[in-house]
Amino acid sequence: MSKLIAASAIRGAYQAVEQAKDYLARAIAAKGIDAAVAFPDTNYYLPVIYSMLGNKVQKLADMQPIIAECEKLLPPIPSEKVWLPYLGNTLDAGMATLFAFEITEACKYLIGPNPVDGIWLGAASDVIIRERGIEFVDGSAPGFAAVVGAAPTKEDAVRIARELQEKNLYTFIAGNTNGVSFAEQLAEAGVQTGWETRLVPFGKDISAAIYALGFANRAALSFGNVSPGDYDRNLRYNKNRIFAFVMALGEVTDEKYAAAAGAISYGFPTIADTDIPQILPTGICTYEHVVSSVPISHIVEKCLEVRGCKIKVTKVPIPVAYGAAFEGERIRKEETYVEFGGSRSPAFEYVTSRNLDEIENGKIIVVGPEIDSVEPGSALPLGIWVEAAGRKMQADFEPILERQIHHLLNGAEGVWHMGQRDINWLRISKAAKEKGFTIRHFGDIIHARLINDYPAIVDKIQVTIFTDAEEVTRRLAEVRHVYRLRNQRVESLTDDSVDTFYSCLLCQSFAPSHVCVITPERLGLCGAYNWLDGKAAYEIDPTGGNQPLLKGECIDPVRGQWENINKYVYANSKQAVECVNAYSMLESPMTSCGCFEAVVALLPECNGVMIVHREYLGETPAGMKFSTLASMAGGGQQVPGFIGVGKNYVASRKFISAEGGHKRIVWMPTSLKEALREEFEQIGKRLEIENFLDKIADETISTELDGVVEYMQKVEHPALSMWDITEPSPEAAAVDAARAAALSQ
Ligand code: SF4
Repeated sequence: MSKLIAASAIRGAYQAVEQAKDYLARAIAAKGIDAAVAFPDTNYYLPVIYSMLGNKVQKLADMQPIIAECEKLLPPIPSEKVWLPYLGNTLDAGMATLFAFEITEACKYLIGPNPVDGIWLGAASDVIIRERGIEFVDGSAPGFAAVVGAAPTKEDAVRIARELQEKNLYTFIAGNTNGVSFAEQLAEAGVQTGWETRLVPFGKDISAAIYALGFANRAALSFGNVSPGDYDRNLRYNKNRIFAFVMALGEVTDEKYAAAAGAISYGFPTIADTDIPQILPTGICTYEHVVSSVPISHIVEKCLEVRGCKIKVTKVPIPVAYGAAFEGERIRKEETYVEFGGSRSPAFEYVTSRNLDEIENGKIIVVGPEIDSVEPGSALPLGIWVEAAGRKMQADFEPILERQIHHLLNGAEGVWHMGQRDINWLRISKAAKEKGFTIRHFGDIIHARLINDYPAIVDKIQVTIFTDAEEVTRRLAEVRHVYRLRNQRVESLTDDSVDTFYSCLLCQSFAPSHVCVITPERLGLCGAYNWLDGKAAYEIDPTGGNQPLLKGECIDPVRGQWENINKYVYANSKQAVECVNAYSMLESPMTSCGCFEAVVALLPECNGVMIVHREYLGETPAGMKFSTLASMAGGGQQVPGFIGVGKNYVASRKFISAEGGHKRIVWMPTSLKEALREEFEQIGKRLEIENFLDKIADETISTELDGVVEYMQKVEHPALSMWDITEPSPEAAAVDAARAAALSQ
C-alpha cells in the first residue's frame, strides 16, 4: 500500500483522536463526568463503538476507555527510512478515527455546535433506521454513497446527486472542501435534500461521516442478527450486504484519509476525483481500495464498479406488458407489423465481451430503419449485437448470455422470438407497434434483463440493433466465424473422456417435458449450447437449468444410455420420459423442443436417413417440408425416427452411431452439404469412402424417394450394404443379449 496514504491516514487519526479528547474534556468541564450522552432516539448507544466493541456509552465517563482504546490503536507514523508493512497499522488508525469521530459528534450534542442545523440532519433515529435500513435488505436501495468534500461546480454536484437518485442509492453527505460542502452546493442549486429524497446531509465536518457508518452498523445489528461487539461478523456483514463506498470530492486531507482507512475495514472503497495515491490490489474490499483521478463525469459509474454494486432495473422500460406469461404467445402472420429473419431476411443475434471502459451501460443504438419507417407486413434484416462487460465476465459466458435473448424478448407482449444465432426469427405485432413498441426496445429489454439476471458476471450491457441490410450482411460473416470457433472449442473432448454431462431445461417454457442432455459429442439441439457452455452456465448459476449430470453406470455403450442420466431425465421431464439413448434416433431417442437447427428423419425405403435444416424451405424425400417435419419431431416427446439436432452434431462421431452413423445419411439439401463440406471430407477419410459427400443425394438430384434410391444405387451408397436400419445393429444386439443373459442368471 502507498506509504503516503498510510502516513496521511495515521496523521489524520492522531488529529481525530486529539479532537475527540478535546471535545470530551470540554464536555466534562461543562457538564460533569457523569453527564448522560447519546445520539437522539436510539437504543444503539454510539452505534459504531457499540457494534465494534460492545461498549454501551451512556455517559461521558464511558468515553474515557474508548479514548484509551483509540490510543492503543494509534500506530507510529511510518518512518522515512525504515520500510515496514503499513496496511494493518493503517486500518487500526482508521478504526481509531471512527471511534474518535463518534465521540466528537456525540459531545457536540451536549456542548454544541448542535449537529442539527439548517440543512444538516445529524444522527438518524431508530425509526429512520427501521424504515430505511430494510431497503438495503430487500434490495430496493442497492447501497449508499458517502460523499465527502465538494464537487468542482454546483452543476457537477447536481448531476452526481441526480445520477445517484436515479439508481435508487442513498447519498450520505459529510465534510467539505475548503469550506464548501456538497450539500451546500445542492442547496444553492435548489435541490431538495432530506431522507425522503435519499440525499442526506449529515454534517459539514468530516467527523459527521460517522453517521453514515453508524447507519451501516445499525443495519447489521438490526437486520443482520450481528451481536454487539462481534466486530468480525459486523465487518463481514457490511462488506457482503451493504454496498457502500466513499466518494471523495476535492482535496483529500489527512483526516479524510483517516476516515477512508476506517471505511476500508468495512469493505467500503474510496473513489476520488483528485490525483491521490491509489491502493489497487484487492484484499479487504471486493476490488480496489482507493481509486483516484476519476473524471467527475464518470465518477458514479466508477464507484459502482469498484464497489461491485449492481443496480437492478426494477421494470423493463417498454410500452407493453412484460413477464413470463407472454413467453408462449404466438403472433400470426396477419397480426404481424414487422418481422425479421426466418426465411424473409438475414438476421442474427450475438453477445460479445468487452472491457469495462469500452462500453456504456444502458446505451442502445439502432443502425438502420426503425419501425415507423416500414409498411405493415414488411420484413427487415436484423443484427442484435450485445456487448457485455464485467469484472467476472469471460468469453466462455458469451454463448450463455446470447441464448437468453430467446426468452428475454419473448417476455414482451406482442413480441415473438424463435431460434438463435443466425437462424433467429422475430415478429413485432401490430398491437405492440400501436402501443409504441419500437425496434430499440429489443435493446432495452436485453439490457434490463441481463443486468438484473446476471449480476455476478455482468456490470455493463450496451446493445446495437442493426436493421441496415449492408451492415447486417457484413456482420453476419463476422459472427458466423465466431460461432464456428465456439463449436470447435469442444472438439478435443469425447463423451468417454468425461464423467459428467450437462442438462439444459431452458426450453421447457415451450416444451415442458423436454430435457437436453449435452455431451461433449452431442451439443444442445439448438446448436447454441455445447458441453463447455453447459459447464460455464452452471458456474454462473449453480441452481439454474444447466446442471452437471454424473453419468453413473453405463447401461448401453452402443446406444448411449446411463443410469443417472435416465434418472435425471425422468425426474425433470415430469415423469414423461423414462430413458434416453444419446446416440439412437430409433430407440428411446432424446426429446426435441422446437428450436433445433435440423431434423434427422428416417427413410426406411433407403435404409437410411435424411437431414433437413431450418433454412431449407423446399420439398424433401419424406414428402414433408421442414415446418411439418419440425412439428412432428418437436414438442418435448420422444418420436422414434425423428430427432431434432444441432447442426454440429451431424459432424460428430456419435451421430446416430447406434444406427450406423454417417453411412446412413442418404439425403441433405445442397446448402447444408456446403455448410458441412469440410467436416464431411474428414468423415469420408475416416470411413475410407471417396467423395462421400457426393454420394449423398440432394434436391438437385431428387426430392422423391424413388429418385433417391436410384441415385444411391448409381453411386453405390454405403447404406445399401448395411443391416436393416429398423433392426438393432449387431453391436446393439450383442449388448441386448448380454443384458438378457445377466438378467436370467
Ligand atoms: S435446445 Fe436444448 S440446449 Fe438449446 S436452449 Fe433449448 S434446452 Fe437448452
